[in-house]
Formats: sequence, structure tokens, C-alpha cells
Amino acid sequence: MNLEKMKTSHLLLAIIGVAALLLFPVGITNPYYIHLLETIMIYAIVLFGLDIVVGYTGQVSLGHAGLFGLGAYTAGVLVFKLAMPFWVTVPAAILVTAGFGALLALPALRVSGPYLAMVTLAFGTIIQILINEMSFLTEGPMGIKLEKPELFGHKLDEREFYWVVVVLMVLALGVVHRILRSHLGRAFEALRGSPVASDCMGVSVYRYKVYAFVISAGFAGLAGSLYAYSEQYISPNSYNFELTVLFLLAVIMGGRKSRIGTLLGAAIIVLLPKLLDDVALFRYVSVALAVLVMIVAVIGIQRKRTTPAQMAIPVVGSIALAGLAFWLQTMTDWRLSIFGVIMLFVVYYLQDGIVGFVRKALNMRRPAPQIDAAVTGVSRADAVSVAANAGGAEALLEASGVLMQFGGLKALNNVDLTIKRGTIHGLIGPNGSGKSTMMNVLTGIYVPTAGAISFAGKSVVGRTSSDIALSGIARTFQNVQLFGEMTALQNVQVGLHLTFDSNLIDVSLHTPRYKRESGAAVQRGLGLLEFVGLEALAGEEARNLPYGKQRLLEIARALALDPQLLLLDEPAAGLTAPDIKELIAIIKKIREHGVTVILIEHHMDVVMGLCDTVSVLDFGQKIAEGEPAAVQADEKVIEAYLGGTAA
Ligand code: ADP
Ligand code: MG
Repeated sequence: MNLEKMKTSHLLLAIIGVAALLLFPVGITNPYYIHLLETIMIYAIVLFGLDIVVGYTGQVSLGHAGLFGLGAYTAGVLVFKLAMPFWVTVPAAILVTAGFGALLALPALRVSGPYLAMVTLAFGTIIQILINEMSFLTEGPMGIKLEKPELFGHKLDEREFYWVVVVLMVLALGVVHRILRSHLGRAFEALRGSPVASDCMGVSVYRYKVYAFVISAGFAGLAGSLYAYSEQYISPNSYNFELTVLFLLAVIMGGRKSRIGTLLGAAIIVLLPKLLDDVALFRYVSVALAVLVMIVAVIGIQRKRTTPAQMAIPVVGSIALAGLAFWLQTMTDWRLSIFGVIMLFVVYYLQDGIVGFVRKALNMRRPAPQIDAAVTGVSRADAVSVAANAGGAEALLEASGVLMQFGGLKALNNVDLTIKRGTIHGLIGPNGSGKSTMMNVLTGIYVPTAGAISFAGKSVVGRTSSDIALSGIARTFQNVQLFGEMTALQNVQVGLHLTFDSNLIDVSLHTPRYKRESGAAVQRGLGLLEFVGLEALAGEEARNLPYGKQRLLEIARALALDPQLLLLDEPAAGLTAPDIKELIAIIKKIREHGVTVILIEHHMDVVMGLCDTVSVLDFGQKIAEGEPAAVQADEKVIEAYLGGTAA
């Protein structure tokens, strides 16, 4: 099929690429160029890791130059002090750096955005200072000299070491690609999409942030150790602020969440400074760039992907740059200005990087989800499993005396709630009456100020959201919380995260266990999409789905947890009449599978048609409870609702 063809052509391109890299020093013997390409590959390894943190989890790190330096110094010191061989220094550098990655993750657990940028920057600076000061180990500002390593008793020359770097870069590329395509990669990406939803799908934000930083740092360590051998000299001030900004720029410029983008970014940050040193070269490149931008613009406009107005500034800008190149006599005075202009250009026009820009202009879609993964014996009909104990009348969830106080406001005031297994329990009340707060308390997003909650005989209070999710409570959100950049299928697969036992090694090697688990996850994911009628949209990014479909997708994702209790927070809000009909049918099917449901809803017809019991909240207090018809006729309820609309 099409996908098969795409895979073969990708494989072919990859083989050609690797062959070209391997043959490069045979064709071009100038050591300067060999070293340049080697540096690009080493930077690319750092950037593979940085992209995990920046591109996938959506965190900022300005500490990666520090980690890179740490890797270089681990290798350097081991060689200098203990004459350790290559096969010891490189793994040691990876391990030490990964350990420091965990340290760098700690601030990321507490702060984000500009604050995290500051903290990680400080981290990088501290590492640089430590390297400088600990001269008994690192020789301080003098730096350490070392030679190319020995491998199997043979001392590598420039070219042979280049080949080692090629092999390790390709290995790193393969490993990072496999990690990011696996359940681990989906967990990282889910953090960016919605941390709250990740936690409520059993994907602990805490744990996966640390993982992301640790794995990312490991790559920086590998790159750093190779860099030490490549340069044959390391000194503290190589790993400075400028380098860390360049790394970040490379990921953004090349295009986050793309390995090709990363390679491009690495090439740009290595070559750009050289380019800005050389007027003749700059002229060639700026003309080539202008031509390229024009081609992309023409194709884009022809295919109606962009408008002439949108393309005007990039085209004019790149032509102006080329003009400037011919007008300039020397580059020295202009270097920094041109660098600044390029940065501005990237921030304004290439927010998805070069790869994202080209993809958009050429109307290329991201590769479809791995629907081609090994088909296992799991039948799609089993997607929603029938809960044990279905229909029993005992209480599945008991809340008593729940108080949730925000400052002086009692959002929940001494609420008791008993949910019987196998029922649909409605929770209604005017806006601001505390319904969503109740859900947040039940799923561990808020810890109640007072009161007890037990679910299936175990207390919920004080446990983390992901722990509660794994014990069988799944939910949707009043404001849809999907992982927007991930496809519908991937969203559901995040819910299936707990079905994976595979570790980093399984993922990297694609062991039978991983293949089995990922195949099963695809099948179940598709089954769940079918259950809510979204199978045709499996490959579509969640943010592109119509609103009604997004709500259904959230339900499918929640069901992936195989919950005993499903909390639906206003699932019909903003839906059209036919969508509401579909929703009612789906909720009925969910109950038939034995899943207990708490339903918050304003559409009275939905509540009346579905619920076995209804509880009514008003100003944080439960004012009525019982069968739907009785509650609807209750004086206090009528008054609360009328009061609610009048206010
Ligand atoms: P409902 O879902 O019934 O419309 P909510 O549970 O969202 O109502 O809100 C109940 C009350 O609690 C509101 O007055 C709301 O402003 C308040 N509230 C909810 N969450 C918070 C919070 N994190 N901090 C302060 N006040 C909150
Ligand atoms: Mg609400």
C-alpha cells in the first residue's frame, strides 16, 4: 500500500544518507571538512536529546551545554587521570550525565516557562564554574589534552574516528526515533498537550518529566564524550551560554519533533558562523536560499496552501538578504546584525522550523500512526471490556463530609455522595455550584480540606491523580483536554499506557514483548475509536477535529484506562442535536459494559433519559437526591435553578 511504499522510500533514503556519510572522507580528504561534518553529527546527537525535552515535553532547557560539557569532562578526566579506554569512557559519560539530567529535572517539576529557562541556565553556569574550579580533577582553565582513542588495540586516525562517530550517530538516531515513536514518546508528548490530562490517564507527569530529562541528558553525555576525542582538547569555556542558546535555536530552526529537522539544525549552527565569516560563500548561500524560498512559495500558492500575501515577506526578505550579500564588501561588521535578523525571521515565520515550513508548503502530512504495526490476535470487539461485578448494588464510591475550601469560599461544603456500581449517577446544579470541583477532588487534582472518599474500598484522599487513574477512575474534562498535536489514535493510546511493560531496552531493540504490546495497543486503540464512531479519523490530529468529535475522543481515551468508574463533565456542552443523540447512545453502551458513570450535565433531557439517580448541588451543598423525576419536581431544585439563571 501507500504506507508500504513510503516506508521503502524512507529506508532507501536512509541507506543513501548513511552511505554518503560513510563515503564522505573517501571522496573529500581535506581534514577540515571531515572535522566539520563530524562536529555536525556530534551536535546532532545532543539535539536528538534536546528535542525530547523541548519538542516533545514542551519544557525549556538552557542547561544542555552544561550537560554536554559534563560528558566531555567525564571522558576527558577518565582518560587523563586513569587512562581508561574508549569503551569505558563513553558509557561512563552517558551514565554520569544522565544522573545530572535527573538533577536538572527537579526544577522542571516545580516551575516552567521563563522561570525554568532561568533555573536551567543557572545549572549550566554552575557546571561550567565547577569544572573551572575543581582543578585537581579537571586541570581548571588549562583544560585537558587527549588523543584519539584506541579501539581493539588499534589507535584510530582522524578518518577512522569519523567513522566511529557516524556509526554512533546513526545508532543514536535509531534509538531516539524508536523511543519517540513508542509509548514513552507518547507519554512525553502528552505532557506538552495537557499535563492534567496526562496525570488523569495514569501517565505521571512527575515521572515522565524526569525520564525525559534523564534520557535527554544521556544523549548530551554521549555527544560530549565524542566531542572531547574529536577536538582532542577540552576547556571549561567551550560549554558556555552561547552554545546553549545555539542548541535551542537549532531545535527550533530545524523543526521540533523531527529528526531531519534536528540534523538540519545541527548543520546550520555549525555552518552559520563559518558562513558569516566568508562573504563569497555567503553570497552563494543567500542566492540559493532566495531561490529555494521562491520555489516553495510558488508551489505553496499553486497548491493553495498559502496566499501570495503570506509569502510576500519571506520572498522579499530572502531576496533582500541576497542583495545585501552582494552589496557588502566584508562581513565582519555585519555578522551579529545578520545573525539577529535570521533569528527574528525564524521566530516570526518558522515557528515550526524549516521542516514544518516545507511540510506545510508542500502539503505533506506527518507520517500516519503505526496502523501497520504487527497485528495480534486481539479482536477489536474486545476494546471495551466488561467489568467484573457488573450490576451489583453495592457502593463503588463513597464520599462523606467532603469540604473543599478555596480561601474563604467553600466550593464543596460537607457533601456526602454514594455511587452504586453499574449505575449512571447524575450530578446537576447551577454554574459554580461545585460540580467540577467534586470531579477534581475525586481524581486527586484537588486534595479536599476535610472529608473522606473511598473508591472500591480504598481511600482516594492524598493519592496522586495518576495513581487514582490506575486504580480505575477515568474522566473527561469540562474544557476539553486533548493532546492537540497528537492524532486521535495516539490520544487513545496514551490512555493505554498502563498496558505496556516494555522498558527502554525493549523499545530500542523492538523486542517481541514491545512488538506484542504495541500491536495490541493499536488494535485496542482503533477498537475504542470505533466504539465512539471515530475510526475514520484515527490519523487526524486531535486539534483539527470538530468540537463534538473532540468530546467523543476524550471519552474513548478515558475508556482506554479500562475504568470501573467514568466521570463525564458536561459531555454534551456545545454539541449539536445529532451529536447529543450519538452521545446518549454511547453512554448507554458504556453502562451496558458495566462501567459506572457519574454524569455532570445541564441538558435536562440527557440527564432524565440516562440517569438512575441524580444529586443536586447548590453553593457547594447537596440540596436534593433521588430518582430523576422526583428531583426534577423538587421545590428546592426548581428554586436553585431559577435563582441560578436569574443571577
Ligand atoms: P461548577 O462545575 O458546578 O460550575 P465549579 O466546581 O467549577 O462549579 O466551581 C465551584 C466554585 O469553586 C466556583 O465559585 C469557582 O469559582 C470555585 N473554584 C473552583 N476551582 C477553584 C480554584 N482552583 N481556586 C479558587 N476557586 C475555585
Ligand atoms: Mg463545571
